[in-house]
Amino acid sequence: MPFETPDTEPDAAWVTAYVGLGANLGEARQSLLQAAGQLACTEGIGELRLSPLYRTAPIESSGPDYVNAVASLRTRLEPHALLDVLQHIEQLHGRERPYRNAPRTLDLDLLLYGAQRIDTPRLAVPHPRMHLRAFVLRPLCDLAPDIKLKGKSLPELLKACADQPLQALS
Ligand code: ADP
Ligand code: MG
Repeated sequence: MPFETPDTEPDAAWVTAYVGLGANLGEARQSLLQAAGQLACTEGIGELRLSPLYRTAPIESSGPDYVNAVASLRTRLEPHALLDVLQHIEQLHGRERPYRNAPRTLDLDLLLYGAQRIDTPRLAVPHPRMHLRAFVLRPLCDLAPDIKLKGKSLPELLKACADQPLQALS
């Protein structure tokens, strides 16, 4: 037979993506760890690494302190399909959206999808506010210190967020 259809995608179809995880209602820390496990078990997602967890005060939000982290993963899901997965996992954790920036049981944001820029009504990547938020930059720097955003290094961007205290959770 001259041609065979491979039953797995070629390596080139796998993209490195970064996901921001946050929660400030319920068992926040547990939710983040479970969500990371659920992501890692999803078809089309592999090689998940979870950053250390950080406690942070709410920014543009309210309620108890947040627990935040970032996960890196390899995926062959296209970006909107990956967002579907993130929103499904949020739903499994009882995510409600009563108003903008409301406290949440679980928030999963797609931060980066390879080097792609995406701007659709459902999805903006790189996440438009990630370069301003210590709770994203610090754990992202733990996983991938050489990433640059808007032409700046993560330590440089973190310096500009010095007024956003973070506490590493052991
Ligand atoms: P927040 O901006 O506080 O994370 P939500 O989690 O409620 O708010 O998300 C609001 C909407 O943002 C979602 O319905 C989703 O379609 C959209 N969105 C746009 N870009 C992204 C992204 N990069 N990651 C996650 N959601 C995104
Ligand atoms: Mg979100």
